[in-house]
Amino acid sequence: GKWVYSFGGGKAEGKAGLKNLLGGKGANLAEMANLGLPVPPGFTIPTTVCTYFYDNDKTYPKELEGLVEKALATVGKLTGKRFGDAKNPLLVSVRSGARASMPGMMDTVLNLGLNDVTVEALATLSGDRRFAFDSYRRFITMYSDVVLGLDHHHFEEILDHYKDAKGYTLDTDLDGDDWVEVVGQYKEAVARETGSDFPQDPHAQLWGAIGAVFSSWMNARAVTYRKLHDIPESWGTAVNVQAMVFGNMGETSATGVAFTRNPSTGESKLYGEFLINAQGEDVVAGIRTPQDITEEARLASGSDKASMELAMPEAFKELTRIYKLLEKHYRDMQDMEFTVEQGKLWMLQTRSGKRTAKAALRIAVELANEGLITKEEAVARIDPASLDQLLHPTIDPKAKRDVIATGLPASPGAASGEIVFSSDEAAKLKSDGRKVILVRIETSPEDIHGMHAAEGILTTRGGMTSHAAVVARGMGKPCVSGCGAIRVDYGRGTMTIGARTFKTGDIITIDGAVGQVLAGQMPMIEPELSGEFGTIMGWADKVRKLGVRVNADTPADARTAIRFGCEGIGLCRTEHMFFEETRIRTVREMILSEDEQSRRQALAKLLPMQRADFVELFEIMKGRPVTVRLLDPPLHEFLPHSQAEVEEVARAMNTDPRRLADRARELAEFNPMLGFRGCRLAIAYPEIAEMQARALFEAAVEAQRRTGEAVGLEVMVPLIATKKEFDLVKARIDATAQAVSRESGAKFGYQVGTMIELPRAALMAGEIAETAEFFSFGTNDLTQTTFGISRDDASHFLGTYIDRGIVDVDPFVSLDQTGVGELVKIGVSRGRNTRGSLKVGICGEHGGDPASVTFCHQVGMNYVSCSPYRVPIARLAAAQAAL
Ligand code: PEP
Ligand code: MG
Repeated sequence: GKWVYSFGGGKAEGKAGLKNLLGGKGANLAEMANLGLPVPPGFTIPTTVCTYFYDNDKTYPKELEGLVEKALATVGKLTGKRFGDAKNPLLVSVRSGARASMPGMMDTVLNLGLNDVTVEALATLSGDRRFAFDSYRRFITMYSDVVLGLDHHHFEEILDHYKDAKGYTLDTDLDGDDWVEVVGQYKEAVARETGSDFPQDPHAQLWGAIGAVFSSWMNARAVTYRKLHDIPESWGTAVNVQAMVFGNMGETSATGVAFTRNPSTGESKLYGEFLINAQGEDVVAGIRTPQDITEEARLASGSDKASMELAMPEAFKELTRIYKLLEKHYRDMQDMEFTVEQGKLWMLQTRSGKRTAKAALRIAVELANEGLITKEEAVARIDPASLDQLLHPTIDPKAKRDVIATGLPASPGAASGEIVFSSDEAAKLKSDGRKVILVRIETSPEDIHGMHAAEGILTTRGGMTSHAAVVARGMGKPCVSGCGAIRVDYGRGTMTIGARTFKTGDIITIDGAVGQVLAGQMPMIEPELSGEFGTIMGWADKVRKLGVRVNADTPADARTAIRFGCEGIGLCRTEHMFFEETRIRTVREMILSEDEQSRRQALAKLLPMQRADFVELFEIMKGRPVTVRLLDPPLHEFLPHSQAEVEEVARAMNTDPRRLADRARELAEFNPMLGFRGCRLAIAYPEIAEMQARALFEAAVEAQRRTGEAVGLEVMVPLIATKKEFDLVKARIDATAQAVSRESGAKFGYQVGTMIELPRAALMAGEIAETAEFFSFGTNDLTQTTFGISRDDASHFLGTYIDRGIVDVDPFVSLDQTGVGELVKIGVSRGRNTRGSLKVGICGEHGGDPASVTFCHQVGMNYVSCSPYRVPIARLAAAQAAL
């Protein structure tokens, strides 16, 4: 293989298309070099070397050393320097770069090549001793941390002591001689802690750093990050070695990050932050609060620090030229890192920028309107799951806000929860089912698990591109960053703002859209959807083939779903209409009745309630199809549990509580999910199906009378295993329809179909379709019964199954396409063989999972049905499946 790819001097051996080989950073550096942009020369050691490294006991291909030396010499030629030279030394950065961006997860070393000799050369060449030794101490700190495993705090303590002794407060108070002294103490610390001197040979330094970067692919935080983002371990990382340029060479130097469009709102304006006289990671680390890039942004933020536009007009003009060029070239919003060295701009990175879901929509729509991408590409660019972010509630504007502090609006959305100050605590409480807000001075990659567990994140330090802000946006979590008025005391577990103190466990709310921190729990309201959301959805609807319906049992759900663009109800679970307290009592009466007569009494009470509910649903759905499922109550959810509940039902039924308790015990099941539920109830007590059918048909007549529009009624029989079961229930339904039609003198259409949620039903689909007019796959039960894994108990061991790789994802969340999916395919094809026009849908939870939606499209279903908030996700996923 080819083990080294050079770039620089207006050309490169790599290109953007080689991301798998060169990693994102390396591929884009090569691309920028090929575009003639100012990129410090360097070379990329590809991911294939990482694979070799792990396959061969952490060793390298034997040609690698020679190739690296050769590439270094080329870099030297392009810069007019030489690696390790005592007079004119080449210094390099060594950075990781995987196929998928893993911000901050792996290691980086800057200023490599400095030693006791080359630091003097750097001082002479730059004419700045302070700069040279400041760079050297940064290098010693980073290298020791990354390569020698010596933690930062050793060096921080030395520096703090030194500053105290000298009466300094800021790092910038130290002059050249001070840094010489500090460097001496740093080296002593390295010798003391590691037992060897800090390495002086630049080549040894280089190989140490390369090895450390490859090794960091397997560090704990990288492993966690990959797990969370489904990044395969086999991909490996590349290593980029690149000539250093210095943003810390005084007031004409700077370093920064910029987005070609606003990553929070999507607005088409250069957006970013920079720091004068600073190096690489200072901006992202959020240690100093950065300055705005454009003057417009500075005016808006009210910052008293100069913008780049005014402070460095030449470099700003060059950045403007380059960002426009990069966005056109990549046809997407770019996230760039740059350094200005003594007035000259250098590009260190470009990549497609991470963005909020809201920004993603706006950017996609505007890029399409600008003609840079097609509408289909715009649709393809939105991650369906990310729409969830937009559909999150925000704080009710009418609510009184007790604002305790204001920071930066780092990631939109609002959330309430208990204060926790550590990520471990956040993760622990989350697993106990509690909602927490993670409060940190700043976050680091070690906090990923805590951020994931938290409802929202609050930091007291750092800008809009700080770690907390970037990661929270990616996760779609509300975040307020840089909230400087808050003093956090980790030891005491408190945060203090002026005279007010909050402690661990106190409830706060953060509003990531405006950057506010509020005391207590706030009332939330449903989100308003942007114009771009509607536009993308409209474009998606044009390409998708699958219909999208909603699982809705209440008028509120149905209305929400209509707003989100559902095309009908795919599942109305009628037992859910009885969850309300007075109704559940009546359902209990019905279930506990010992004879048909008392059962009919209870049913007579339920009939008007059901009818009224159905009328309302039909009216809301305005002629769209509405699939109503006959009662399917797992008995354990409906039987009375306490003595008080038993007595209450007994009173209503006028029977002896003891007798009723006996009856309840009689009905209790060992395995309710496989018990007396679904159509089995309707078979044993046909009067239940009869009551429901009557309520439905009478409601259809009523709604039709009120709206003048025919109701798209589909009556669905649950949990059948055999055609006989279905036919028996269908006969009752049809008879009731005739009766209602006769009594009312009205005509109405309807279909009777069934759920396919047992393996036998899928296998016998051909026979069942002789009488069933539609199928709806109940993949919750089908997954349960195909795996033989209880829906209610699976969580105890599914985690282990996922950790061990036995299943990739929870099969109740994303359809098991090979196993359960095989039964679905069989069901669809056998059903359609019998009845060509058979309408087929899905109404299990999988109907709103993007991967499962793709599968449903592929097997030729007519529609998917999912919970209201997932309707837009399903619409988009269906469109992408059709592209
Ligand atoms: C199913 O089993 O997939 C289904 C939709 O029904 P329920 O979840 O109500 O059992
Ligand atoms: Mg079911």
